[in-house]
Amino acid sequence: MDLPGDVAEVLATSYREVSVQVPLRRDDGSLVVAQGYRVQHNGARGPYKGGLRYHADADLDEVRALAALMTWKTALLDLPFGGAKGGIRIDPATLSQRELQSLTRTFALSLSHVLGAYRDIPAPDVNTNAQVMAWFMDAYSSRHGYTPAAVTGKPIEMGGAPGREAATGRGLVYVVEAAARRWGWDLTGKRVVVQGFGNVGSWAAREFAALGARVVAVSDVRGGVVNDRGLDVDGLVRTVSGGGSVTEIDVAHTPIGLDELMTMECDILVPAALGNAITEDNAAAVAAAVVVEGANHPVTPAADRILADRGVRVVPDILANGGGVTGSYFEWTQNIQQFRWREERFNAELGDRLQSAFTQVADRAEDTGSSYRLAAYSIALDRVARAVRLRGYV
Ligand code: NAD
Repeated sequence: MDLPGDVAEVLATSYREVSVQVPLRRDDGSLVVAQGYRVQHNGARGPYKGGLRYHADADLDEVRALAALMTWKTALLDLPFGGAKGGIRIDPATLSQRELQSLTRTFALSLSHVLGAYRDIPAPDVNTNAQVMAWFMDAYSSRHGYTPAAVTGKPIEMGGAPGREAATGRGLVYVVEAAARRWGWDLTGKRVVVQGFGNVGSWAAREFAALGARVVAVSDVRGGVVNDRGLDVDGLVRTVSGGGSVTEIDVAHTPIGLDELMTMECDILVPAALGNAITEDNAAAVAAAVVVEGANHPVTPAADRILADRGVRVVPDILANGGGVTGSYFEWTQNIQQFRWREERFNAELGDRLQSAFTQVADRAEDTGSSYRLAAYSIALDRVARAVRLRGYV
């Protein structure tokens, strides 16, 4: 790319990294002091944008890596945003709803001076959802006045956008449809394995099933289930939306271990749980034709090389799960205009943007003989580097 050294130097570190204590009074009267983070990697192309995750393993270094990923993702999708990420190091499964709300409000207020509709706009990520975003938006608005555009992924009643909740999983399938057209694939009957049946995984599974593909295995943190003739995805969604695990479905299936599921023979493997799901330990055994990264950073660099050597195609995270932030962009624009789109318009715009991003990546990969990941990064880096120069940062 001939990226100038001074630009590279700016992009190698974050613009701002905030680490805050988030004290929480538990229901039993005891005090927990959790650590919260917000990292703003680069804002040359627009306000910072990125999710908030509540997880026992969240730390500054992980948040930093995910913030940079958002810079490349928003640039690749050509959205007017920079990249950020945040989180709290806590296991929310141990908290009551009151505790979760209190934690979220304290976190929002302690970060509010670096956030805002034109400054930095959080969204849901692992273990956070529309309800958490509603509390976050309310706490922010209590200090700054009613500002729905300060947070995305909100409930529809509070300025959320119809289509946003499904956008990451649905967008992933739009990208796969564009890829299938380019590769001459018919998706009907294709075997799909999904690791992680949360927001991204469950919506991707639903959309694959709607296209006639066969979702043969899915998992969540408690275990996996398989049915070679295709799982009943609607049944799985019903079980999970009632608070259950995929392992509790009452439709035909056999159990499978979490590690075993990753190496099942299939056409499309969608890691949609957490990072580092495919490493040098299991990459040689992955038996999928294509890996589509629903999660952020599910394939380590070492595993990426092994998959490439074995001819397994990888559709990278910044493209495959870019539907989430694209949907957030639509929500943000609707909030600013105080105008609501119908879901059909939302999905049509989502499909257009993702399919166009896929075409740009595939063209660049073919022109340069590189992987989709390298092609996606080089397009994104190019755009960010230009903006950094035009802004006069270096
Ligand atoms: P979520 O919390 O809704 O779901 C995560 C799922 O993964 C749950 O079903 C959980 O049980 C499962 N899981 C956790 N560890 C597992 C393991 N070891 N094996 C199998 N399953 C496991 O989270 P989400 O919003 O669906 O996010 C999933 C991934 O997608 C994350 O990497 C996130 O950063 C990324 N992502 C999310 C969005 C979004 O809009 N939600 C957008 C872009 C990227």
